[in-house]
Order: sequence, then C-alpha cells, then structure tokens
Amino acid sequence: MENNNFTGNSNQMIDFLGNRWNFDCLGCAIVKGEVQIPGGIIYEGKHAILGADPEIPIPGFLIINVKRHIYSFSQLNKEERNEIGNLITYAEKALKELKIVDEVTLVQEERSKHLHIWIFPNYDWMAEKFGKGISYLREIAEYAKNNHNEENSRKVLEVIENIKEYLKKHNITE
Ligand SMILES: [Zn+2]
Repeated sequence: MENNNFTGNSNQMIDFLGNRWNFDCLGCAIVKGEVQIPGGIIYEGKHAILGADPEIPIPGFLIINVKRHIYSFSQLNKEERNEIGNLITYAEKALKELKIVDEVTLVQEERSKHLHIWIFPNYDWMAEKFGKGISYLREIAEYAKNNHNEENSRKVLEVIENIKEYLKKHNITE
C-alpha cells in the first residue's frame, strides 16, 4: 500500500467492490458525490459525512469525513465540533449496541490533506493475529485488503445497513 493511499492523499483508488475512482481530493469528491463509497453514505449531517472505509473491507470500519477542505481539528468551528463529537459518539454507540465490536480505535492524522477520522473496530482476531495497539493498524488494514472475498463484502455491506438503521432511529444531537 502506498503511503499516500493510507492517508487519503492519493489521487485515485480502487474501492473494495472493484470500482476505480479518480479525484483531486477524495474527501471533497465524496462530499460532492463524485465518488460513491461502497454501501453509500451512512449518515449525512450539515458538516460531516459518516461512511465505511472505501478501500479496507472490515465490517464496521467507519470514516467521518468533514465537509470543508481543512486538515485539522484546530480549524473546526463550534458547530462543526458539536456535530463531529455527536457523530463519533453515535457511531461508536451503534458499533457497541449492535454488538459489532466492543472496542474501537480512533485515528486522525494531520498529514492527510482532508480532515477525516477513522473509527477502527478492534476485533479479537486482530489482537490474536497481530497484537494490540495502533502500531498494528496498518498491517491489519493490509491483511484485510489482501484477504478480501465476496462473503466479506456482503458482511461489510450488511453492517453498513444496520448502522444506517440505528442512526435513523436515534437523534444524534441528544
Ligand atoms: Zn478536500
């Protein structure tokens, strides 16, 4: 995996359903609808979008993509901070209450040019195979990409639908 791909700074990607996309900025292209991520948008707020990671097929691996082309939490205004905080909270509640995973890891890298937050589900198989902690995330992501199959795609898409349903039933501002 290219270093740039991992941060979302590449200008192209092939998603886990096999679709090829070209763009100047992936975050902006998703906001404009020029890139359709697998499973579609899970939740769209005024300032941010929740979706599944388009390249790494792990059920419940979510990304919060901020709508503005900014790179840092320090650039967020109050309204954006509120919405993103709520979205992180409810995305994590969905993962736990739907019993997809008991524990997550949040990642945000400022070297990525468009602000997005990874909500990475920590499955037991990951700890058993690779160990615990953020140093293994890259290996786990590469493993998931390289060992992908149709059954796995189906599971990822099913979890996306379940989280969409969960978020429809809950008011994330409460
Ligand atoms: Zn952008």
